[in-house]
Amino acid sequence: MTNDAAGASRSVLVTGGGRGIGAATSRLCAARGWAVGVNFARDGTAAERVVTAIREGGGTALALQADVASDAEVVAMFGRIDAELPPLIGLVNNAGVVDLASRVDAMSAARLQRMFAINVFGSFFCAREAIRRMTTRPADGTCGGAGAHAGGAIVNVSSAAAKLGGPGQYVDYAAAKGAIESFTIGLAKELAGEGIRVNAVRPGIIETEIHASGGAPDRVREMAAQLPMHRAGTAEEVAEAIVWLLSDASSYTTGSIVEVTGGR
Ligand code: NAP
Repeated sequence: MTNDAAGASRSVLVTGGGRGIGAATSRLCAARGWAVGVNFARDGTAAERVVTAIREGGGTALALQADVASDAEVVAMFGRIDAELPPLIGLVNNAGVVDLASRVDAMSAARLQRMFAINVFGSFFCAREAIRRMTTRPADGTCGGAGAHAGGAIVNVSSAAAKLGGPGQYVDYAAAKGAIESFTIGLAKELAGEGIRVNAVRPGIIETEIHASGGAPDRVREMAAQLPMHRAGTAEEVAEAIVWLLSDASSYTTGSIVEVTGGR
């Protein structure tokens, strides 16, 4: 893969950028000339592997540890971006979790709090910090940060579960992704006059480790025959849509939810 990121003048933060869809997105962003903040929560080894690959290809990348569910950790992470990377022009709210299959009537408060804290609040915290650095709105005391205030693009990662509902399995996850879609639509309208576009991708069944983390390591193999294309998608196929939404090639697209479900 060629890499033209040497001397990159703009940064993108990819939350959960060390594994799965986030890792593919980090690598593709670097290949398209972005300096990349590769956020991780626990797996620093995976994030460092992505960073090393980007640097070996001549690009710029930085591993950034932060639990996106922690407001304080998110604020500190953006402080490091201000200090150590070019101005932030892009944000990919990719970090996300599922949980073991459960009916709603068996879900604990702790499960629901984790699900919404990471998948929803984390995206709000990161978007808030990004907007403060990207908005072209004149300073009025409500925005600040060390960014270029040159506009930018935010891409949220939803899921086909938002429309399918995840019955008997993870309605909580589906509802969190439904919130992400409403967040995308509202924020896009809020920021349309401030140089910031906000869109989402809605992946279907994608080959990553998330299925094993939800107690279903064989999910991709079991589902493949039922999918319209008789196969799952790859993280790289989702990354292509994300990077298009980040790029100027999608300059009149905002408030959109792009399906990457193979027709599911
Ligand atoms: P994955 O392989 O399990 O990777 C999840 C990533 O999220 C990891 O990098 C992980 O960091 C990070 N993460 C988890 N909790 C975090 C937290 N509290 N703070 C910061 N980072 C955190 O999952 P994936 O399949 O690539 O999923 C990426 C996104 O796509 C998620 O939003 C998911 O809901 C969505 N999605 C996936 C599919 C699919 O079939 N795979 C379908 C639809 C939507 P560590 O490496 O540090 O653990």
